[in-house]
Amino acid sequence: MREPGSKTNPLDPALEELLKRAREAAQRAYAPYSKFRVGAALRLKSGEIVTGTNVENVSYGLTICAERTALVRAVAEFGPDIRIAAVAVANLNDAASPPCGACRQVLAEFALPEAPVVFPAADGVRTMAFRDLLPLAFEMKLK
Ligand code: ZN
Repeated sequence: MREPGSKTNPLDPALEELLKRAREAAQRAYAPYSKFRVGAALRLKSGEIVTGTNVENVSYGLTICAERTALVRAVAEFGPDIRIAAVAVANLNDAASPPCGACRQVLAEFALPEAPVVFPAADGVRTMAFRDLLPLAFEMKLK
C-alpha cells in the first residue's frame, strides 16, 4: 500500500525556503548524546517564520525535539492565537525524520489541518497535509 503524502519535486519556493530555514536551525542543535541534529521551521499564518532545534539532556527523557522547541518559541513570541500554516523538518544526518508522535500531538493544538508538513522520509523529501500526519488527534470537546 502506498503511504499517504507525496514527494514534491521540486518543492514550491515557499516550502523550499522553509526547509532551508530548518536546515540552518539544525546547525544550532544541542545533540551531544545522539549526534542527531534536527531543525524545524514553522511558518505562521501571519507569515512569520520561527525555528527550533532539538535540545538534548543528560537525563535523556528530558530531551525536547526541534518541532516542539519551535512551537514553544512561536507561542512565547507571538502569543496564544498563532496558527501554523506550514512546517518543515530537516536533519544533518541524512536520515528520515518525520515528526514524532509527541510533536504531532503538540503541533495539532495550533496547526491548520491543511498545513503542509515537509520532512525527510526514507524515499526522499515528503510533503503531507497535517491532517494526514495525525488523524484522530486527541481533542477535548466538553459537552
Ligand atoms: Zn518530536
